[in-house]
Amino acid sequence: MKILVVNAGSSSLKYQLIDMQTEKVLAKGGCERIGIKGSLLKAKGNGLEKEYRQSMPNHKIAIELVLDALQDSEIGVIKSMDEIGAVGHRVVASGEYFKKPTLVTPEVLQTLEEKTFELAPLHNPAAATGLRACMEVMPKTPMALVFDTSFHATMPEKAYLYGINYDDYKNYGVRKYGAHGTSHKFVSGEAAKYLGKSPEELKIVTCHLGNGSSITAVDGGKCVDTSMGFTPLAGVLMGTRSGDIDASAVEFLAKKKGLSHSEVITYLNKQCGVAGISGVSSDFRDLCKGAKKGNERCALALEMFAYQTKKYIGAYAAAMGGLDCIVFTAGIGENTATVREDVCAGLEFLGVKFSSKANKAKNDGSVREISKSNSKVKVLVIPTNEELVIARETAALL
Ligand code: AMP
Repeated sequence: MKILVVNAGSSSLKYQLIDMQTEKVLAKGGCERIGIKGSLLKAKGNGLEKEYRQSMPNHKIAIELVLDALQDSEIGVIKSMDEIGAVGHRVVASGEYFKKPTLVTPEVLQTLEEKTFELAPLHNPAAATGLRACMEVMPKTPMALVFDTSFHATMPEKAYLYGINYDDYKNYGVRKYGAHGTSHKFVSGEAAKYLGKSPEELKIVTCHLGNGSSITAVDGGKCVDTSMGFTPLAGVLMGTRSGDIDASAVEFLAKKKGLSHSEVITYLNKQCGVAGISGVSSDFRDLCKGAKKGNERCALALEMFAYQTKKYIGAYAAAMGGLDCIVFTAGIGENTATVREDVCAGLEFLGVKFSSKANKAKNDGSVREISKSNSKVKVLVIPTNEELVIARETAALL
């Protein structure tokens, strides 16, 4: 069976067509500037790449164009749309309404649109728009929703609750939901495979370090805690997000900067993190270059990032009562060797014996062990594959 994975943004739509027998990506691409002048589809298939510069006033036209590309005479990989067994849609937030991946029914669509939009106002409406477009163009094809939050649904109450009035949690759903769940699920599963153990035997801390970063404690294959919170603003400082901050600072900053509370939240999401600390960039490649040239604030941003990540690893080792493996993944986790080294420095007391030599080896896209062979805690670099998880979950629902 072939599964189409769709990740819709407000003006974009990324896709992959995956063959579930081989788990190979047959075709992939993305539409940019949907609803904006200059729309573009970049599509890959059959080892070729093609650009379609065509007007895409809405997501329906975009998905029609994607289906055309999938059946194109040069880059096409299917003969007819009927070869697509199902479509898996990435959805950022589920709240407590969906605890697991779900096939779309009219009721599911209604809950998605009426209940979850306020939890991820930028992302969930876009996912629903993408979903509706696919339903219109492919009315007979099953649609599934796969949530970034699902993997975190196993967190116990003591981990996901904030210390607020319990009634406010019950009435308004204010609690930790986490994010990047598909990535944490994938890399923790791959770690178990690599180590030749069953997930039930392992205590793993997965570090998804990218422009958005989150760290998760995976005990026995299940998430027991994670660093992101009610929204992806929480946890370690990120590209432009502040990470954890005392809520009282929101009021204080609003007064000092003459901003509304909601403007302060936008500021904390868009102008802070390593970009705010360094004053240079949110991109770790720029920060590493800056630090090398002696820019102290670039060095400070990198230092803070490694320190905060390290603290989560220590906290989660304590929460799980042990640690067998640390996994690094995503843009920074997979590529920025100095961050991995700084995060692991000083973790010898936990049983980590880090190999600087292995850590410096080139990223060849495979699973890499960067701890010494006699390290009690294994440290792995594992390329993430969120699309494959979405495809697997979708196939499992059928
Ligand atoms: P992501 O959000 O997972 O795409 O990660 C983006 C972050 O990874 C940026 O801060 C990049 O600087 C960082 N990064 C470091 N090296 C690379 C690389 N070779 N390719 C892509 N991203 C990289």
